[in-house]
Amino acid sequence: MIENVIIIGGGPAGLSAAIYLARANLNPLVFAGSPPGGQLTLTSEVENYPGFESILGSELIEKMRKQAIKFGARIVDENVLEINLNKSEIRNPKSETNSKRFENSNLKNSKIVSSFDIRASKLFLTKSIIIATGAKALWLNLPSETRLRGRGVSACATCDGFFFREKTVAVIGGGDTALEEALTLTKFAKKVYIIHRRDFFKASKIMQERVKENPKIEIIWNASVEEIIGEKHVEGIKIKSDRIGQSQIESDKISKNKTDYIQLNPISSNSISQVLKVDGVFVAIGHKPDTDLFKGKVDLDEKGYILVKPVESVKSVKSVTDSTDFNRFNYQRMTSVPGVFAAGDCADPYYKQAITSAGTGVEAALEVERYLESI
Ligand code: NDP
Repeated sequence: MIENVIIIGGGPAGLSAAIYLARANLNPLVFAGSPPGGQLTLTSEVENYPGFESILGSELIEKMRKQAIKFGARIVDENVLEINLNKSEIRNPKSETNSKRFENSNLKNSKIVSSFDIRASKLFLTKSIIIATGAKALWLNLPSETRLRGRGVSACATCDGFFFREKTVAVIGGGDTALEEALTLTKFAKKVYIIHRRDFFKASKIMQERVKENPKIEIIWNASVEEIIGEKHVEGIKIKSDRIGQSQIESDKISKNKTDYIQLNPISSNSISQVLKVDGVFVAIGHKPDTDLFKGKVDLDEKGYILVKPVESVKSVKSVTDSTDFNRFNYQRMTSVPGVFAAGDCADPYYKQAITSAGTGVEAALEVERYLESI
């Protein structure tokens, strides 16, 4: 059997695509991963998904799954372990000769659009694919951080900042995301600390200026987080300052000019570990797109995000010659391989919101419909 479309990923992008493709009678097969649901299942309440004033992330995913299944999508909670995209030998799957070839040939030599190997034993053939594997926020990997996730520990100020009205929060990191998170949080919190392990930011200059000018933000340089304190919710963070550099002194000078000087309670007089009282901790040390499976199979940018600029991207592929029929690639959200599309955070280094993922999932689904009609 050759599937019309296989969707890899069971978050908002994959499930939105599944709803559209199921309603188009294309009988999509979704590999939702194990555990399924993506980043949304790790957040607590979601208050910025239109139509839901407040809903648990896991509940929102469950509703999307039910809706997709109701219209005929098949969802398998398994991880895809291997993928074989035969870039240069694509044939029209409608042709009988080729269909026979699919059945008789082994995986490596088959003339197929794509194929899957799940649990390294089962093979799936498909005419098209939507990759919606998402991205993972990087975490500090502290046991207390894992325990308190959703109880004051977050990786998304846009999602969770609202819960910290008039509270004190800390943001960890020194890139654009950290500084953007800190600025977002100043709209809610009364005080925002940025804790960074160096004495300079790697973020863009304009963001640095905005942060330094914001009276609610206090920067703690050269400091790393050792532990997040709290039983049922975040009560503070234990930070260790490895060295007190010039910038720290500068930071102290700035701090003293402010009414809101950092209140640190030394654990002992000799110790350089200190506890800072905060109600929330926002970890903003980067994201990693979940695209390892696709390395060398579709074009990725230098950070591993899937490139979905159709014609422009394809033109840069060495194997494509002047005689290439660029119409084959003239689909939004198509990767550098015809018939393979990408949606959601795995192809989005910027917005990373549930609703934007759902939107690009729908775009990919509509383009898949168009693509399937054309082959
Ligand atoms: P970055 O990789 O740019 O920054 C990550 C930050 O986290 C760095 O300061 C890094 O420290 C720090 N860090 C990493 N690991 C740890 C750790 N284990 N403990 C403590 N600190 C750690 O990621 P971003 O998500 O900030 O940005 C990703 C890309 O997206 C960038 O290109 C950025 O410019 C872009 N972006 C653009 C935005 C915009 O234009 N509006 C908004 C957000 C992101 P160190 O400095 O030591 O490496």
